[in-house]
Amino acid sequence: MPDFDLLIRGAQPFPEIGIAEGKIVLLSGGSSRKEIDATGLHIFSGVIDSHVHFNEPGRTDWEGIETGSRALAAGGGTLFFDMPLNAHPPTCDAESFDLKLAAAQKKSVTDFAFWGGLVPGNADKLEELAARGVIGFKAFMSNSGIEDFSCVDDTTLREGMKRAAKLNLPVAVHAESETLTSKLARESIAAGKTSIRDYLDSRPVAAELDAIRRAIDLAGETGCALHIVHVSSGTGVAMVAAAKKSGVDVTCETCPHYLVLTEDDMAKLGAVAKCAPPLRPAAVQEDLWQHIIAGGVTTIGSDHSPSPPELKTAQNFFKVWGGISGVQHTLPLLLTEWSAGLRPGPLEISVNSAVPCRRPALQSISDLLSSNVARRFQIPNKGKIAVGFDADLALVDLKQSFTVAKEDLLYRHQQSPYVGRTLTGRVVQTILRGKTIFKDGKITATDGGKLIKPKR
Ligand SMILES: [Zn+2]
Repeated sequence: MPDFDLLIRGAQPFPEIGIAEGKIVLLSGGSSRKEIDATGLHIFSGVIDSHVHFNEPGRTDWEGIETGSRALAAGGGTLFFDMPLNAHPPTCDAESFDLKLAAAQKKSVTDFAFWGGLVPGNADKLEELAARGVIGFKAFMSNSGIEDFSCVDDTTLREGMKRAAKLNLPVAVHAESETLTSKLARESIAAGKTSIRDYLDSRPVAAELDAIRRAIDLAGETGCALHIVHVSSGTGVAMVAAAKKSGVDVTCETCPHYLVLTEDDMAKLGAVAKCAPPLRPAAVQEDLWQHIIAGGVTTIGSDHSPSPPELKTAQNFFKVWGGISGVQHTLPLLLTEWSAGLRPGPLEISVNSAVPCRRPALQSISDLLSSNVARRFQIPNKGKIAVGFDADLALVDLKQSFTVAKEDLLYRHQQSPYVGRTLTGRVVQTILRGKTIFKDGKITATDGGKLIKPKR
């Protein structure tokens, strides 16, 4: 008699994984009628991307949940957290949540969770969003670039944090100083300085540090859990780590683009590599890596934020839509760094533990992309290869290299700064709750994903 619905055999570092009813039930022994021979492959917990903008409903001409979730699955991903913007309406109340949910239930090939928005005037909506099951609340401390999602002043952020703390949900912030960035941008444009270099100069690391400092102060005062998204500098990470040490419940995220691209790449690649905070000089990037290795970063998210190509063509670089398409390649990008020997040796990871523990690099990558995300955002039974956890898995050939080609991008618009880049570590198969959703370059999902809520 078979013990399981599916047995994955031969993968490292778990040569036997038994799956029944979508869950991992055993990590050795047993037999099954259905087996996957994964000899020579490495098995990871499915990537949980806690930061994407799939823009549905309202802006499916920018991306959409169907194309976005398929691209995620092709990159070994099994769960995404969609940001409240640039959907229209943005996810700032129960009604807009329901609209997004209906779209995702119809179209997502992976599981999904939603961030609620925290904007001026919606403090009274946070409770209904929490009841619907949002993962937390996202606020912008500087102009979001989109009209229907205003940035918060400190008073709004403080009030939102107080309420979020009561609801036992985190607040995530885009941390850049509005005062500094808007003034520098205005002065630059007024002086006719609108090149890529001028844009870079208008968003200095200091703007990021100023906002992080204020957000941490407010989190400390209100007792709210705070997550700083897309930190672009080691100094920013260091501020978070110091605050955490002093007892503030704060963590941070960075993104692959800050780790593999520099401001020189932005100058070369142009609009496709525009983001905010912007890409940084090589020395800042190296410092960021050192802080990851020291355990200061909790999660890595793609901040996938596409737009139609028409929004990427302005001569004035300030007017170009900012946002990088990358949800399909987070795992291979990080694996490439590791396999190239660029990041040798163990990383030190200290999430939720007083004493940093040394882990092999591959495990650290998996922590940053899966288990830390699940733990930080209170998602039970996901993010780890362990008995009782959802069988969300990615089989990867660590030896295989490939060059990112436009035609292979499953996005609505085939643009990404990673096109032409050779990566090592190809995702061969992605499994969601025991069912294959991507295999050998093709989406094979039949059932679709489901809404994942935090256990708060
Ligand atoms: Zn974002």
